[in-house]
Amino acid sequence: MSVSQYPLQRPDAHTRNFWDGCAEGELRYQRCAQCGHVQCIPRSLCEQCQGTDLQWSVSRRAGTVLTCTTVHRAPLPAFKEMVPYVIAIVDMDEGFRVMANALSVVQQDAIAIGNRVRIGFKNVHGMALPVIESVEGNP
Ligand SMILES: [Zn+2]
Repeated sequence: MSVSQYPLQRPDAHTRNFWDGCAEGELRYQRCAQCGHVQCIPRSLCEQCQGTDLQWSVSRRAGTVLTCTTVHRAPLPAFKEMVPYVIAIVDMDEGFRVMANALSVVQQDAIAIGNRVRIGFKNVHGMALPVIESVEGNP
């Protein structure tokens, strides 16, 4: 999955709980109560068994960088003053994926595929965004 295909850009009915969690400092993910499947992208049905009993859990916020890219053109006017910045897709230990911005220059140099990172949150123009809070290097 490349960063440009990542659909979690704006809140909708299925991702609302995810973004509400960010605003409260929680990284939330969806797990199927029927088969235990963990979904990368929140949906109304389990993508494995089509079950509707999906429960939200709170992540421990540790994961591994799956891919990362430098953004030179802001996707929204609110991000204009931040460019260029690095965006990473992080494979979380619980089995879901999250897109996180790396806002500090020090972190941007340190982020590479396979690095262990911790996710935090930063308020950007009223939106709490998942960000790389710390980089722990290769395991
Ligand atoms: Zn299921």
